[in-house]
Amino acid sequence: MALSHLYRMPISLTSHGAAGTVTGSKHLLEVRRHDGSTTRLLLDCGMFQGEAVRRREEDPNRRFGFDPRSIDALVLSHAHIDHSGLVPRLVAQGFKGPIWSTPATRDLCAIMLEDSARIQEYDFAFDLKRAKKQGREPEEQEPLYTPDDVAPAMALFSTADLGEAVSIAPGITLTYTDAGHILGSAAVHLAIDDGERTLRLTFTGDVGRYVDRLLPTPAPFPQADVIICESTYGDRDHASMDEAEGELLRHVTEVCVERGGRLIIPAFSIGKTQEILYTLNALSNAGRLPRVPVFVDSPLAISATDIVRRYSKLFKPEVREELLKDPDLFTFPGVEFVRSPERSKQLNSMKKACIVIAASGMMEAGRVRHHLLHCLPDPANGVLAVGFCAPGTLGDQLLSGAKEVRIFWERVPVLASVDKMEFYSAHADRGELVRYLACQDPRQVKHLFLVHGVEHSLLALKKLVMEKGFADVAIPRRGERFEL
Ligand SMILES: [Zn+2]
Repeated sequence: MALSHLYRMPISLTSHGAAGTVTGSKHLLEVRRHDGSTTRLLLDCGMFQGEAVRRREEDPNRRFGFDPRSIDALVLSHAHIDHSGLVPRLVAQGFKGPIWSTPATRDLCAIMLEDSARIQEYDFAFDLKRAKKQGREPEEQEPLYTPDDVAPAMALFSTADLGEAVSIAPGITLTYTDAGHILGSAAVHLAIDDGERTLRLTFTGDVGRYVDRLLPTPAPFPQADVIICESTYGDRDHASMDEAEGELLRHVTEVCVERGGRLIIPAFSIGKTQEILYTLNALSNAGRLPRVPVFVDSPLAISATDIVRRYSKLFKPEVREELLKDPDLFTFPGVEFVRSPERSKQLNSMKKACIVIAASGMMEAGRVRHHLLHCLPDPANGVLAVGFCAPGTLGDQLLSGAKEVRIFWERVPVLASVDKMEFYSAHADRGELVRYLACQDPRQVKHLFLVHGVEHSLLALKKLVMEKGFADVAIPRRGERFEL
């Protein structure tokens, strides 16, 4: 064995989030060199949500597990809050390095982080007011950051286009490839030269689906030595569905036409809302959409839709062609974009059949909670879940068949129908994850780390990828350190 190998300085990986959970994505890479220098890179800086926060005595969003001042650079995979939601807190606590992302991710982060700060401020004030009135202790904690923390964070962003190789730290090159998950989403590929070897590391971020939608399917990626792979749906395949139109139309017809009710579609403002509008627009263009008003009740979704329109170059080629015939794929007769809180409140008391698309997708925050509060007790209404709901979230409770839920400290009976539609899942299922990894020679992959999944998904995916020839597969625990 060569002497240099014996004294090789280790590169290490420690997951501080999305380790045994689906939220809080945060992976720390430390590169130590013989000259005594160390580079610390953080991959994603996401917020924990749902059970991951509630079941712990200590809120994991309030303690990073590392010193933000010691991080040299942050690399983001995409703009979802569970991957970027703690960026303003990281910066407020002393992080001063560059934040790398694709241009679309930067633009989406700007509106998403501002929105997240305002929601936290609002929820805290709302709870304080009600607690005082009800003579109880407040339940909400202080906001993790305020709107004032967002601009200093945004000032640190630097962008790299898909396929563009950029040097982000001494000896470290970053290249993004399309992950096909949401607009701007990318897998992160790092070439890390520690003075003795070059380690090729891939972090998948969230992987999209191989179905016919607005965005291209996930792109194959260059051979890696180390892969950190998401596992959200590592234990199941999505119901096969070639097209979304028929399925969505069936739900609209049942709830709005046959029962005269309101169909609430809780959806991430970024990504999911635009995919649903794209389907509704296609149905409308084909004359198949029943004449019911459609409300997009989310200021964030409205801003996000504007950004998606601007980045039409990232759409699939077939979708870009459609733009020649229909220049706005997200607007059709009967759709109303609701910005003001007053108009949103009017919708709550409106009794006619309609479709309401509102955030958040997991039903944990945002205006959708007000709609659910008003709609759930009436059997004419329906809720259509279109995305993954982490354990313990309100969405998870409804999908598990809860007969009663708690919204804003009120007990609400669930009489409305609750359905789910998997077509819009932005995450690859297990077959698609295997397909995504099929571009790799598994014998060259020294370590495969499975993250971003609950335990049974992680274990099921581990078994599956080992059958495909990946020999060293690990499921990191939060704070566990691996030498690469
Ligand atoms: Zn995501």
